[in-house]
Amino acid sequence: MKTLQRTLTIIKPDAVRRNAIGDIIEQFEKNGFCILAMKMLQISKHQAEQFYAVHAGRPFFTSLTDFMSSGAIVVLALERENAIADLRKLMGATNPANAEEGTIRKKWATNIEHNAIHGSDAEETARFELSFFFAGYELAK
Ligand code: GDP
Repeated sequence: MKTLQRTLTIIKPDAVRRNAIGDIIEQFEKNGFCILAMKMLQISKHQAEQFYAVHAGRPFFTSLTDFMSSGAIVVLALERENAIADLRKLMGATNPANAEEGTIRKKWATNIEHNAIHGSDAEETARFELSFFFAGYELAK
């Protein structure tokens, strides 16, 4: 039996500024991810700190949260079999220098921080991240 899984992805401010929204969403659809919910918004520095709380204390935390609150982002709830791991494959490595050909980061990322896209890395993280951006009724599908 196929088990559907949900994941949270963010098209980051660098990719929005580079007019990559359409291309990235096309990649999701071409690869079989179903878009359950989607919104464009700008988060505050405080909200970025809450979202990335797991990275508090890392040397890049201030810079990352400045970046993530620097402009519009697009957040999407995606659903597919094995969505979490397969979206991360489609994203490519955190550092675009190591990203494989054909991945979103290979095409759109500028550097290890301005790397175009976020994707949940585990089931528990996905639950937290989905509920960070979407209310229950928005995902009741
Ligand atoms: P991801 O799961 O591939 O997004 O990577 P991580 O969870 O390790 O890091 C979260 C985000 O922090 C990354 O997507 C980058 O935007 C940023 N980041 C990670 N490592 C570094 C780093 O060494 N330097 C800087 N400046 N940013 C980083």
